[in-house]
Amino acid sequence: HAKEAGRSTYRVYGPDGRAPSVRLLRLEAELHRALERDELLLHFQPQFDCASDRLVGAEALLRWHREGELVSPAEFIPLAEETGLIVPIGAWVLRCACTRTQAWRRTHGVPLRVAVNISPRQLEAGGLVETVASALQASGLPPEALELELTESALVRDPQAAARTLGELRSLGVSLAIDDFGVGYSSFAYLRELPVHKIKIDRSFMAAVRTAQGDPRLVRALIAIAHSLEMGIVGEGVETPHQLQLLKANGCDIAQGYLLGAPMDETVFARLLEGARQVAAAE
Ligand code: C2E
Ligand code: MG
Ligand code: MG
Ligand code: MG
Repeated sequence: HAKEAGRSTYRVYGPDGRAPSVRLLRLEAELHRALERDELLLHFQPQFDCASDRLVGAEALLRWHREGELVSPAEFIPLAEETGLIVPIGAWVLRCACTRTQAWRRTHGVPLRVAVNISPRQLEAGGLVETVASALQASGLPPEALELELTESALVRDPQAAARTLGELRSLGVSLAIDDFGVGYSSFAYLRELPVHKIKIDRSFMAAVRTAQGDPRLVRALIAIAHSLEMGIVGEGVETPHQLQLLKANGCDIAQGYLLGAPMDETVFARLLEGARQVAAAE
């Protein structure tokens, strides 16, 4: 099958487009053992409801703790995708995110939701629906508390297969979001056809409105598109008060970014939840 052959031969090259660096080759070899060596962990970045300022969820973000060094996802996710390791790693992420979140929901008595990133490779590999169902079952997390983030690239490669899988995921009761919306493909046609519930405005659009000097029209338009299609919308990469204000003034649903909280390990996130509960109790 030509498509598969093409994919299995593509490799990660250095920034200069030449052969992979020694570092990449070494990382690739070690990534195979990262799971069994317990070197992978999740950080959680809080998501806030724009209207109420309440903490409503978290995005689970994968980290690799390798010999005292935290390797960036920007470096190892492409390797994991290229080697296919993202499939077992992604299954671990789902299981871990659901278990952690359900434990927090129980301990803190909050209706917390969790968003998990899904690679195009996981969508194509088959078995994703079963993997998600088993993560929900094992953790006891209600399906409506799980959100899967897919990128546009996963959806355009084989739109019919993607639509089928998304339909099955939706039948499980989980919600679906398009991550990094608006970059790359800019096809609005699939938005109408795919059963997605939410879009996440790409950080580049948010970066353009860091201050009042930025042009707010694109962000406004994206919020309007989501709402006219009866979808929710998340602004990510919120770093300045101006950006947050803009999202709020235009009725954006959820905000996420360094201004509100960077991705943090589970101990720190638990403290944030405890604080949120005390605020709620005092209200
Ligand atoms: P993403 O899903 O778009 O995640 C958001 C990224 O933006 C995260 O980078 C987060 O740390 C960063 N971020 C959050 N707030 C801000 C902000 O205010 N300003 C700026 N400049 N950045 C912010 P991170 O954790 O390095 O992850 C990078 C990408 O790696 C993710 O982008 C996602 O595509 C991928 N990724 C991370 N975890 C997983 C995973 O478990 N599975 C898969 N398939 N991909 C993952
Ligand atoms: Mg994401
Ligand atoms: Mg994103
Ligand atoms: Mg991204």
